[in-house]
Formats: sequence, C-alpha cells, structure tokens
Amino acid sequence: MNDILPPLRDVIARHGLMADKSLGQHFLLDLNLTERIARAAGDVSKGTTIEVGPGPGGLTRALLAAGAQVTAIEKDKRCREILAEIAAAYPGRLDIIEGDALAIDASSIGASPRRIVANLPYNVGTELLLRWFAYVNAFESLTLMFQSEVAQRITAPADTGAYGRLSIISQWLCETELLFHINPRAFTPPPQVQSTVVRLVPRANPLPARRETLERVTAAAFGQRRKMLRQSLKVLAMDAEGLCRANGIDPTARGETLSVEQFVALANSLDAMKVVG
Ligand code: SAM
Repeated sequence: MNDILPPLRDVIARHGLMADKSLGQHFLLDLNLTERIARAAGDVSKGTTIEVGPGPGGLTRALLAAGAQVTAIEKDKRCREILAEIAAAYPGRLDIIEGDALAIDASSIGASPRRIVANLPYNVGTELLLRWFAYVNAFESLTLMFQSEVAQRITAPADTGAYGRLSIISQWLCETELLFHINPRAFTPPPQVQSTVVRLVPRANPLPARRETLERVTAAAFGQRRKMLRQSLKVLAMDAEGLCRANGIDPTARGETLSVEQFVALANSLDAMKVVG
C-alpha cells in the first residue's frame, strides 16, 4: 500500500516543527529510506510493531503502509498533532504513547508477536537496548538504527577493535546483523556521524548464565583492555590464572580474543565458586 499522506517536508513546515538537538532529533524525510527500514523489519502484518521516537512520522508511515499495527512512543509533545493526523489516516492502526521510552516497559505493549523498529535517538539508543535486553524474548526482532560506531560494537566479532561489552551481551542474547548504512545527508538536520541499521533476533535458548555475572566479567576484561586476563580478572577472583585454565583459556590472552561462549564459561565458573554476586 502506498503512503496516502502529504510529503513529510510539507507536514513539518506546516506544523513549524524545528528539530530539537537535546532529543537527538534527526529526521528521515526520504520515503525510499523509511520504506527500506520498514522492509528490513520483515513481515510486520501480524502482532504489534513498537516504534520509539516517531518524530514527524516518516518511519511510522512506512510501517503503516506495510500493514503494521503500530504503537509509537514519543517524548516530544510537539509531535502530537502530526502523529494524530497520521493516526486519522490509518484508523485504528496507530496508538501513540506520549512519554519517555526509558521509563516504559515495552514487553507488554499490544498483542504478540511484538517487534521494535526505530530510528533511535543517539543519546539514549544504547541505554534503551540494554533495558530491552532484560525482557528481549518479548520481541521477535529489533530493527534499529544507531550511530554506526554503536552498530559496529553490537555486531563485532571477537578479536576486532569494536568487540567489547556491548558485543558480548548483544550476541549472547541475540543473533545480530549489520544491515546497511545511511549517509548523514539523508537526515534533516544531518548528524555529525554516519548511521547504521542493525537487526537483532532474540535467541530462543541463549547459553545459560547470570547476566549480572557476565557483565562483571566483561567489565573486568575490557576495563583494562590491554591487560592479560590473569591480571584483568583479578578483581573478580584471586586465582584469575586458575579460573582461566579451568575453562581452557590462556591466562595470558586478552579479553578481546575470547568468544561469547568463553565469557559465559568464565561467568558460570565464578558463580559456581560463589565469588561474585
Ligand atoms: N523516527 C523519526 C525519523 O526517522 O525521522 C525521528 C527519529 S529521531 C533520530 C529520534 C526521535 O526520538 C525524536 O522524535 C525524539 O523526539 C524521540 N526521542 C528522543 N528521546 C526519546 C525518549 N527518551 N523516549 C521517546 N522518544 C524519544
């Protein structure tokens, strides 16, 4: 179905909506790009599509045109009228929650299957993702735009510069895939950085581990990125060397060379020793 509303640029001008930097507002007005992101979310015709930060509604319109039932969470009250116009054009298909997505539990919004699709505000993107991880199995997928540096960290394989705490928690819980980049010039106003769309699909059975312990291990290993594990893990276990060896890990290796499975093994050993938590 084609979008049935006036061009976004006209809508924004008519409502006098000026982008507010403090809310991370960079609007995508190119319908080809918003359609591309909506397509990347896969089949949106069933269940609920949750969008964070619809702003003037470019991506929202693409999702609705693709057949989605959308619940959009927007903090900026100035977007209220524009979003109400979109809701009127798609009766019963768009619910708006006016509020801070950081304060909203997204796990019970609408009917399942639920998915999140969003061009996230850069300033809270990572924080939102970490919160969603607490109940990530409530979603069939998360299709999200981040600044490229964050997208690289989410999807980075071991032993690369971008690999770190965010890669491990993300890949422990989800299959992650970097989809495509979007040039700053595509946004109004253009951000300083390149943007990238990432897709995360929650794993049905992530390796058993306590998230808190896993995060402590990765914090220790990457807090002192250049140090060998026998040194960096000492904050967690006096015998860091023994801990590594018990898991078949070279104590002189650096954290960045370890796989997600190896971090999980370390976390489980620590829990078994009851040293952590
Ligand atoms: N989806 C629109 C687009 O693609 O053009 C706007 C994306 S803009 C990068 C981010 C949006 O998130 C803005 O509309 C901003 O007002 C909203 N936003 C910022 N912080 C938010 C928060 N904590 N909760 C909900 N929305 C937020």
